[in-house]
Amino acid sequence: MFTGGPGVGKGTQCELATEELKKSFDIRSSLHISAGELLRSITKLPEHERYHEVCENLKNGTIVDARITTDLLNARIREHVSNLESTVKTVKDNDMGSDIILVDGFPRNMSNWECWQEHCDINTTPSMVFFDCPRSVLLNRLTKRGQTSTSYRTDDIYDTILKRFSVFDSTTLPLVMHYQKT
Ligand code: UDP
Ligand code: MG
Repeated sequence: MFTGGPGVGKGTQCELATEELKKSFDIRSSLHISAGELLRSITKLPEHERYHEVCENLKNGTIVDARITTDLLNARIREHVSNLESTVKTVKDNDMGSDIILVDGFPRNMSNWECWQEHCDINTTPSMVFFDCPRSVLLNRLTKRGQTSTSYRTDDIYDTILKRFSVFDSTTLPLVMHYQKT
């Protein structure tokens, strides 16, 4: 699980880490999931039962109810496992190395973490990687992304960026500290 402030580059680091892990270990399959992207996919589905709630949280930079994100993560992992099972045909295929899952941007707070521990479908103890970065650099990166990105993000605007910093300080950082101690 890759965590760090808004705009720190969690997604990019996941991609780089996957490449590095593949160089050093026998990796049978890799899956990179961006929790933010999973949630943004809901904003294209007005018929989704939690559509309004998800859109509202994304627009405001606040954290979506833990069960929604946990369910989306589980569904994505199940899909990956099922694809894997259909491609693994022989005992030899099954022996071809480890399956790695890199999740970026989750968990965001203690409630996310507890919900994941309670409801996660896979039997694993995740490692957490934390990226620290000066606030001025994050602000610069996000402002640039807001000006240049053609993606459908609604949150790379100044006021929401500040709100996301404050949510990060009050909920994500305490979780990182807690995880560091355990
Ligand atoms: N978000 C959330 N729960 C998560 C991950 C993301 O509620 O587990 C929401 C939250 O509103 C956050 C937004 O998605 O501000 C964007 O998150 P993302 O990780 O994509 O980008 P970041 O803010 O880290 O640049
Ligand atoms: Mg991201």
